[in-house]
Amino acid sequence: MSESIVRALKCRECGHEYEIQPTHVCEFCFGPLEVVYDYDKLDDKFTRELIESRPQNMWRYKELLPIDGEPKVGANNGFTPLIKADRLAKELGVKELYIKNDSVCYPTLSFKDRVVSVALSKAVEFGFKTVACASTGNLAGSVAANAAAAGLESYVFIPEDLEQGKVLGAAIFGTNVIGIRGQYDDVNRLCSEVAGKYGWAFVNVNVRPFYAEGSKTLGYEVMEQLGWKAPKHVVVPMASGSLCTKVDKSIKEFIKLGLVEDNQTAMYGAQATGCSPIAKSVKDDTDMIHPVKADTIAKSLAIGNPADGYYANKVMKESGGYAEDVSDEEIIDAMKLLARTEGIFAETAGGVTLGCAKKLIDSGKIPRDESIVLCITGNGLKTQEAVLNEVAKPRIINASLKEFDVLAAADGVK
Ligand SMILES: *Cc1c(COP(=O)(O)O)cnc(C)c1O
Ligand SMILES: [Zn+2]
Repeated sequence: MSESIVRALKCRECGHEYEIQPTHVCEFCFGPLEVVYDYDKLDDKFTRELIESRPQNMWRYKELLPIDGEPKVGANNGFTPLIKADRLAKELGVKELYIKNDSVCYPTLSFKDRVVSVALSKAVEFGFKTVACASTGNLAGSVAANAAAAGLESYVFIPEDLEQGKVLGAAIFGTNVIGIRGQYDDVNRLCSEVAGKYGWAFVNVNVRPFYAEGSKTLGYEVMEQLGWKAPKHVVVPMASGSLCTKVDKSIKEFIKLGLVEDNQTAMYGAQATGCSPIAKSVKDDTDMIHPVKADTIAKSLAIGNPADGYYANKVMKESGGYAEDVSDEEIIDAMKLLARTEGIFAETAGGVTLGCAKKLIDSGKIPRDESIVLCITGNGLKTQEAVLNEVAKPRIINASLKEFDVLAAADGVK
């Protein structure tokens, strides 16, 4: 592939097009900008075989990402396992269930490594030396790690009350962690001001259009791993709603390029009840998103005023999907269910995805006899607080066979 097929940044509202540059809002109508491509410029060498011949990372689809040439940051990131989850399927009473396991995404164990790789690669192309983000937790760690590996200076802004694993998981990389007294939406507001004043590349502010495109790679991988097939039903967790819209975009692109057949994929969004402005709008059958004050253990999804909520709402409705939300208690139950049946320790967001999927299946919104993919987006070791008191404590004995015999006998072991 010689030439990039990226055409422009295009306003999602009025359609005005802009040259590729570090900006994210339309000057005319303040609508959000999105990267658009000239798909017909993609030569016929871009085939399943070409993609399969490349290294197993997210850049095997680089023609469909908004970078020039080779990635500058995160060259080994992505390509996580897709697991056929038969034990969990049996428990849920469904026929064909898969887990896209981004809780082991390289290098920081969440799907944010995908979006950050694209955002920072683009930031380097633009000539930025300092990168930054407004984060609900995972983004901070991913920006810090990928910036460190690329030799970039970084500042990460987080709500001050995040889980220790998220804070440590950023600080270890030598980044500047700034804790803000307030919620994510306060952090985000401050970051818009800082981005304007300091001229840094804020991955989810001024380079957001490029950042968001990285999420498409999760969708591409699922289709390739299913044997070049689009799934029938996909359940994704939602914070800003961006991942939901980009998985949908990835499927539409592969259909347009003839890489998969149209399987009428339905998109389902999952949120915690304590912060569910997008799910509520879908359930209320409106496209108005009413901002909320977040109160949930699923801190990585706690965006009260979601930037892409309106578009995620549209994707779910137009694809024939739906949205659901779950209480903190249901989140914990689902985290334990996933761990017990499939050996996957997901973070709270994973509990949200599985908990919502269970409700959608039980209510008949997702049929039991069609293929379902659950997107597990982050690792449980970073949200230990949520389940610390929910699991059995170790039973302590002396290093004595006699004492173990007593314990085993009490367990009924022979
Ligand atoms: C950020 C995040 C999401 C969702 O992000 P969007 O803003 O909706 O794209 C989902 N899961 C985890 C673990 C996250 O950190
Ligand atoms: Zn516009």
